[in-house]
Amino acid sequence: MIIPIFLPHLGCQSRCIYCDQDVITDIEKDDIGTRIDESLAGRKGPLEVGLYGGNIFGLNSEDVKRLFSYFRSHEDKITNFRVSTKPIPLDPEVIAILRENRTTVIELGIPAFNDHILWFLNRRHTTADLINAFSMLTGEGFQVALQVMVGLPHETLDDVRGTVRNIVKLKPSYIRIYPLAFISGTPLAAMHEAGAFTAITFEETLQRTVLIYLNALQHGIKTVKMGLTDNEVIKDRIVGGYYHPAFGFLVKSQAFHQALMARVIEGGFTGYATVCLNSRDISHFLGYKRTNLARFREAGLSVTWEAANIAPGTFILKTGKKKIWGTIFDALSELNK
Ligand code: SF4
Repeated sequence: MIIPIFLPHLGCQSRCIYCDQDVITDIEKDDIGTRIDESLAGRKGPLEVGLYGGNIFGLNSEDVKRLFSYFRSHEDKITNFRVSTKPIPLDPEVIAILRENRTTVIELGIPAFNDHILWFLNRRHTTADLINAFSMLTGEGFQVALQVMVGLPHETLDDVRGTVRNIVKLKPSYIRIYPLAFISGTPLAAMHEAGAFTAITFEETLQRTVLIYLNALQHGIKTVKMGLTDNEVIKDRIVGGYYHPAFGFLVKSQAFHQALMARVIEGGFTGYATVCLNSRDISHFLGYKRTNLARFREAGLSVTWEAANIAPGTFILKTGKKKIWGTIFDALSELNK
């Protein structure tokens, strides 16, 4: 079980333009120990602790030691830590302290593998910094995951393909994909209001996420999360970009719809067809509020479905004597063009 502990802005020496972390954690002034005690009190081990919401690499070695000292009284039930951070600065002493304190997984944030976009977002690091950190940390024996984003200012489809290429090349332990939401009060929201960039549509955001998700999956890289969850955003403050409580579900449904349509078109299916698929995939096949069924009808196909003893992510399309197999990756035939 992973217990997430959010330490907003801890160690961030600058603010990303989309950052809505109003509260800045100060390791000297804030009572982090009490917050940690409250999160862990009454919980039985074994527990993994996730330290999220800041840039642990931005802390000096003394502060990192101090941070872990707050966990001493819970030591016997904690198996390991995972931390999220920017890829800079890379201080070998900080990294050694993380390892000594049983940190096994490090999640590196890299919204895009495009230095101009990183500059625009005020990330204060480059793609080369990320690649350098990734290689050093994996070399040190850490599992390294990546957090990427879609729908960024000035992002093109080529940028997203660049994200895909880098994910496939680096082979992170897993990834998280976040569509960008514009939160009121942030520089990003003000820039958007002033017309400094044009946001892409929700459909395009979904497509770009499908592109990353499916390519990663095809290379054995799991996406553990897509989109922010309800408790991570104050919905009233979202003034642009995209947030949807079921974003991950929408992405998987879109992938299923596109894969099926690719095979429908290729096989020349019209009229009626039956789709056989693993029972775990039925909800994604139907889509959010069954919208995929309506989309099939609009494309001239009335579909029924049956659960079948086949691998998740695969399907069989049947009509009359015609029968063809497909997989969710068939969606990539169009997306990767
Ligand atoms: S890394 Fe950026 S988005 Fe994350 S807490 Fe720091 S300033 Fe905010």
